[in-house]
Amino acid sequence: MQEARRRVGPKRARIREIIDRLAAAHPDATIALRSRSDLELLVAVMLSAQTTDVNVNRVTETLFVKYRRPEDYLAVPPEELERDIFATGFFRQKAKSLRGTMAMLLEEFDGQVPRRLEELVRLPGVARKTANVVAAELGEPQGIVVDTHVRRLSQRLGLTREEDPVKIERDLIKLVPREDWGPFPHLLIWHGRRVCLARMPRCEECVLNDLCPASRV
Ligand code: SF4
Repeated sequence: MQEARRRVGPKRARIREIIDRLAAAHPDATIALRSRSDLELLVAVMLSAQTTDVNVNRVTETLFVKYRRPEDYLAVPPEELERDIFATGFFRQKAKSLRGTMAMLLEEFDGQVPRRLEELVRLPGVARKTANVVAAELGEPQGIVVDTHVRRLSQRLGLTREEDPVKIERDLIKLVPREDWGPFPHLLIWHGRRVCLARMPRCEECVLNDLCPASRV
């Protein structure tokens, strides 16, 4: 979508205010995936590829009763795990990734979920985005998660001109203060779901409309 650009000043002068206003507008902005442990968090994020958080929560509600430790994912035949995660889609690939990840957790990490990005990305089927989400939730963000909302809002807010998520993340890392790396994507995601909608952004009710070059008001 081609959008009119207004003059709002350099992004470095706007970023603090953007974060603070979003934090005030969305105090409940946290990860929507439900989990009660590091392991459940990792599994939920892995299952969330190509599906909705609501769908994952529906599946993990029963999954996490049956599978409590890494060993539990390896104790059942692969087909049984595939059946148990079927509703999240891409179930064969996801089951393979889960089994590979659990085996590596047991072999190399004493059954614990590592916190560092470079360790997380070594787990089978754990891409950089998944690793970023997990590291951030475990309190050690080492990058900024870029999903479809983060990408759209960063572009509209004039925080990046890039299209590629890796390049967008590079721009955001230079701009967003390190202590905000964890919450920042959640703020954009919730603002993107509630106000800055993909097709019809509600600029008239947006707390950023005087700071946004794409504002329609
Ligand atoms: S809703 Fe409008 S003013 Fe707010 S961030 Fe989106 S495009 Fe900018």
